[in-house]
Amino acid sequence: MTRVTELRAGLCLIDLDFQGEPGVIAAYLVEDAGEYALVEVGPTSTLEVLLDGIRAAGIDPRAISKALVTHIHLDHAGAAGSLVQRFPQLQIYVHEVGATHLADPSRLLASAQRIYGDRMDTLWGDVLAVPPANIVAVSDEERIRIGGTTLTALYTPGHASHHVAYLTEDRREVFTGDVAAIRLQGFDYVRPATPPPDIDLELWTASLDRLRALEVDALHLTHFGSFSDVSRHLTAAHDQLYAWADFIQKRAAQGWQPEEMKRALRERADTEVKAVHRDEEAVRRYELAAPSGMSVDGYLRYFRKRQSAG
Ligand SMILES: [Zn+2]
Repeated sequence: MTRVTELRAGLCLIDLDFQGEPGVIAAYLVEDAGEYALVEVGPTSTLEVLLDGIRAAGIDPRAISKALVTHIHLDHAGAAGSLVQRFPQLQIYVHEVGATHLADPSRLLASAQRIYGDRMDTLWGDVLAVPPANIVAVSDEERIRIGGTTLTALYTPGHASHHVAYLTEDRREVFTGDVAAIRLQGFDYVRPATPPPDIDLELWTASLDRLRALEVDALHLTHFGSFSDVSRHLTAAHDQLYAWADFIQKRAAQGWQPEEMKRALRERADTEVKAVHRDEEAVRRYELAAPSGMSVDGYLRYFRKRQSAG
């Protein structure tokens, strides 16, 4: 069953049902004046769910002319190449730093392979290169037209060095990708998403401040859904990012091994979810959206980089 939610006229959320779990990865379908665009495309493993969702919204996938991705991680943009193969008219919008990796995903795949090992295919499916002619590299403040409206790309590094969020023309909503962290629909718990290789806490703080200054009415998260308690959410995203950073940094200073830290952070993360929601399923879904072990690797790499930079 494909779950499509109309958030307002011209905006639908498609639940990609990642690994058979609802409410973990979203794609958004934007329409204005007969033009259609996606924000995020998800991984190739959920491509059929995405296409079913588009059809369930009453739209022929061939009518979609643009797909805007917030960054190139496989859960956000992995399906871009497969989509273009099937719909050659589709233009993929991505920050200029991410563009080369969509055209040649070999480095991205090597890095993902180190993290996911033999689960690569099950989790993500094939990752095809996007032909350069189908890639539109965007920079900060660039406006992307969809029918009579525009989305503005906001360069918001921190989770990834090439991350952009997309602001609606009325400046009331922003598609946050992963820069506003992870929070499942209907839940109050906000969880950091800090995978390797290029998280950066200082840049991330600046990006969260930038989002806050927009004073929007809604944040549309990829993981997962739409939230209107914007200020509270962004504060929690910032505080949790640093709470987990402290947790890892202290243990690293005490000589803990990464595997021990991963076990400890997993326990902490599960406890944090359960403190807010007594829901075992939620524990599993949060872990699927942002694996805690990967967060440890991301922080450790960041601390090492900062140390060697002096
Ligand atoms: Zn990501």
